[in-house]
Amino acid sequence: MLEGSGKRRDMKDTPPVFSAQRVRVLLPLPLAGAYDYRVPPGLDIQSGEFVTVSLNHRPMIGVVWDAAEAPEAVPVPDHRLKPVNAILPAPRMTVSLRRFIDWVAAYTLSPPGAVLRMAMGSTAALEPPTQQAGWTLAGPGSNRQPRMTPERQRVLAVMEPGRVYAGAPLAEAAGVSLGVLRGMADNGLIRPALLPHASRFSRPDPDHPGPRLLGAQAEAATQLVAKVAARRFGVTLLTGVTGSGKTEVYLDAVAEALRQGRQALVLLPEIALSAQWLERFKARFGVSPALWHSEVTPRTRRDTWRAVAEGEAPVVVGARSALFLPFPDLGLVIVDEEHETAFKQEDGVVYNARDMAVVRARLAGAACVLVSATPSLESLTNAESGRYEALDLPERHGGASLPAVETVDLRRTPPERGRFLSPPLIEAVNATLERGEQAMLFLNRRGYAPLTLCRHCGHRMRCPNCTAWLVEHRARRQLQCHHCGHTEAPPAECPECGTANSLVAVGPGVERVLEEAAALWPEARRLVMASDTLPGPAAAGMAAQQIQDREVDLIIGTQIVAKGWHFPHLTLVGVVDADLGLAGGDLRAAERTVQLLHQVAGRAGRAEAPGRVLLQSFSPEHPVMQALISGDLDAFMSEEAAIRRPGHWPPFGRLAALIVSSEDEREADRTARDLGLAAPGGEGVQVLGPAPAPLALLRGRHRRRLLLKTRREIAVQPILRDWLARVPVPNSVRVQVDVDPVSFL
Ligand code: ADP
Ligand code: ZN
Repeated sequence: MLEGSGKRRDMKDTPPVFSAQRVRVLLPLPLAGAYDYRVPPGLDIQSGEFVTVSLNHRPMIGVVWDAAEAPEAVPVPDHRLKPVNAILPAPRMTVSLRRFIDWVAAYTLSPPGAVLRMAMGSTAALEPPTQQAGWTLAGPGSNRQPRMTPERQRVLAVMEPGRVYAGAPLAEAAGVSLGVLRGMADNGLIRPALLPHASRFSRPDPDHPGPRLLGAQAEAATQLVAKVAARRFGVTLLTGVTGSGKTEVYLDAVAEALRQGRQALVLLPEIALSAQWLERFKARFGVSPALWHSEVTPRTRRDTWRAVAEGEAPVVVGARSALFLPFPDLGLVIVDEEHETAFKQEDGVVYNARDMAVVRARLAGAACVLVSATPSLESLTNAESGRYEALDLPERHGGASLPAVETVDLRRTPPERGRFLSPPLIEAVNATLERGEQAMLFLNRRGYAPLTLCRHCGHRMRCPNCTAWLVEHRARRQLQCHHCGHTEAPPAECPECGTANSLVAVGPGVERVLEEAAALWPEARRLVMASDTLPGPAAAGMAAQQIQDREVDLIIGTQIVAKGWHFPHLTLVGVVDADLGLAGGDLRAAERTVQLLHQVAGRAGRAEAPGRVLLQSFSPEHPVMQALISGDLDAFMSEEAAIRRPGHWPPFGRLAALIVSSEDEREADRTARDLGLAAPGGEGVQVLGPAPAPLALLRGRHRRRLLLKTRREIAVQPILRDWLARVPVPNSVRVQVDVDPVSFL
């Protein structure tokens, strides 16, 4: 391995020789780059090969990287190089995936090995697949005359020469026990053999009959199909109101990728959404696609990774990490709900999967489709400038109309004291339930109450590790921090003044709305949908099924209910606190609130019965509420653009955040100040901060933020690299780089 940069090489050494063949191997570790290794004689190594090497006397798997553009100034001499130990029997990593890893590393200022780690989803997959044993006919040659029984005859009748059968299914097909098979083997009638490696991934049938697309749907589908058939990179923004059939349309593009013999990747923001999506896929193609997300078992992970690498998994649907799967021939990348912030990975390698999907598609020569009913201003701007093509589906499928959106002015018709549902909303739910239809109450807050306060001294229950209040989860009898997970039991008396029974819940969470709903509608069958009540895709899928099957009358949910669900019997959506997302100084607060509430509203009235949406708000005159009432999101987004353009805010300028953190507050402050003093400047370059982060304390670390803002034509990466190189950072301090931040906490 490379030891240091070679600068400390003893000059009295004999001159180094650089004759042996060497390769660069990238290891899945946060190191500065690839390391040189020696190629042992007789080993033929190509770029992309998975190899084993040793690092500090530990065996490791890495990937043979391409020759460096600028070789090291002082390379390690041959005699100090360690050899490559072995080449693993796995498909080589494609050049397009290697370039992608380099690209993501450079864009996010991450070590390439940290990005490589995401692409090595399962090292078990690099081993040769294990084969299972079965039975085959022994064939002629055995001149013994074993005893024949009716059971043995049935087995022989089932078996074809040359084929290998797994034991259990063979026994079942012949109606015998496994013992009969073993006896036949002992008698030389059959013999053990290895089963061929069976793929668990069936090939979706592109010509399986799907729904008939007409009008705008057919037009959009034809265009997307042509993009895929062109086998070239290009980005299309597919928009259309909720329920207009965007999914059906892009599944046609998936069918074309299959016809082309290429692979397709569909990214979904939250895998909880996948249950209904998978049903749709199955209905369209007859089989299930491969799934990739953090909750798949190690075994499925291994099989899926391998199947993708061997081209055996033609379609993958997954979370953002699926971008790093080893597709040998990717023809189509779809990002559904492209506006979702869940596509941003906030820790480790900080990247936006929506944006990186475009890069992955470009490097693979694939078509890319971004899909949303509420597209981001970023994508809209790219469509406007002609970088992306735009396709739109203006109407709901089957003549369903968009729901009527109204506000409830909480200043004029407030709820009763200590309650959160206003009289007009209660009446609307009454009427809906009386008609036998479903209603939904939306509040983007888990738990019972966001704040617990002492009525006597005003003390607020806070997290010891974070700048955050503890959220009461009454059903679990816990106070919980939603940032670090810290929990404690609710104290019987105020920890500050000692008064007994003085702590009161302030504000609502979904649990509290459920309590109110239970009192108002004791007969209604209620269901809570929140990420903590429905952990994992299976639970969310079951809940969705219950709703579809009308086993539920009233749904109470957090943002999980906003995502793409199709609930045909839901006709009323009540938003408990429409103002919730507008607080705080986030650049995109208004945009996000419109997107979220429009998506929630879009769950209503998706079938024949018209839908109605009530937004409880203290400021119904706010442009966000007005946009939701009018449904004219285009006009709202134009306004947003007009607000952001003059100040060069994204997408009309670039941002990168530096988050300085340390357990030692003074160290964090000192480094943040040093970075501030060394801040880059010049035409079109500006640094804001340092300032304490809104989450000034997170998991016990003190956090300071600096924000680099540049004109659109100025890349932030070279500026960041130069800036960070000039400021020494002590070991106790971490400086995280967040290019294109979406969270400013
Ligand atoms: P979106 O993705 O735009 O929200 P979907 O694709 O989910 O819309 O379509 C909404 C509903 O209408 C789904 O149940 C879908 O199966 C159905 N649908 C859409 N287009 C058609 C069509 N052409 N024929 C039959 N059903 C359709
Ligand atoms: Zn905390």
